[in-house]
Amino acid sequence: MTEILAIGSYSPVDQAALDTMPGAQCAGSLAEAADLPEATRAQVRAIAFKGHHAFDGTVMDRFPSLALIANYGVGYDAINVADAQARGVAVTNTPDVLNDDVADLAVGMLIAQCRRLVQGDHHARSGAWAAGQDFPLNRKMSGGRVGILGLGRIGREIADRLAAFKMEIHYWSRREKDTPGWQHHADPVALAGAVDFLVVALVGGPETESMVSGAVLDALGPKGVLVNISRGSTVDEGALLDRLEEGRLGGAALDVFRSEPDFDRRFAALDNVVLQPHQGSGTHVTRAAMGQLQRDNIAAFMAGKPLLTQVA
Ligand code: NAP
Repeated sequence: MTEILAIGSYSPVDQAALDTMPGAQCAGSLAEAADLPEATRAQVRAIAFKGHHAFDGTVMDRFPSLALIANYGVGYDAINVADAQARGVAVTNTPDVLNDDVADLAVGMLIAQCRRLVQGDHHARSGAWAAGQDFPLNRKMSGGRVGILGLGRIGREIADRLAAFKMEIHYWSRREKDTPGWQHHADPVALAGAVDFLVVALVGGPETESMVSGAVLDALGPKGVLVNISRGSTVDEGALLDRLEEGRLGGAALDVFRSEPDFDRRFAALDNVVLQPHQGSGTHVTRAAMGQLQRDNIAAFMAGKPLLTQVA
């Protein structure tokens, strides 16, 4: 009897663990899951979901006994929460266990952008250094002014790390937080105008759609650097590309894009950007912890116990 359906592409470790859960079956994608035989779909009570394709009410309705969607990842913007709530389906995610890795990557990307680590590596490997060519001087990051757009769990970890780099911490969140010495700004434009570097750590989804607008990028200015580890949807990518190409923004470091993995190739032609393949949480330890938390939520649900990390 298939009571648990795992949707998505899981690591061998997670796949092996899912396979040991009583009543578990796997499907590679939402489309594949929706096409399972009706008798199988009717038995499914919990879905372990991994992916970024829209999971809305139309898909949920294919599983009439569904009561839980356990998302792999803290960002659950692919799941239509209103549709889930309307159908009495609970949603869980995997917060906190990935904070360190995502924050580490954000800081690493900012350093890479300022100190041109990718170009420096190429300069050494290519033999240019050995041939006597100087590597151009670049930009100091420590001691600069950084703005965190979205001081949530990950934003806070990024700010803590950058504070250790002697940086002045500014932020925007919907409410001022208890962070003495850090400056809260009234809106994202005011934040961008006050800093050298802007790091985006917002949730994705309709509420934060293009919050990093052309106006925010203009406030950041021709020496400003944007770092995005949140979701591609939070940035007006057309406005960002125009400004990067025209020198109206200093640079960017991006782990997420509107279209993934087939991101806008205009980015690849730019020398003032650092590009990463959405790998913020991508370490062995953290991905294993995310999978464990996803399964723990399902196990709690199946045992009739309270969910560990319910978001809706
Ligand atoms: P979080 O603790 O919930 O923080 C989310 C931030 O978004 C908070 O600052 C929150 O504002 C803000 N926010 C939420 N709803 C908003 C709204 N309606 N309007 C404006 N701001 C809103 O989440 P987290 O654990 O830090 O994760 C943040 C995001 O990082 C995830 O949602 C995910 O998309 C992304 N992420 C990316 C990777 C990667 O691989 N690159 C990995 C993990 C997560 P307040 O401070 O005002 O509450």
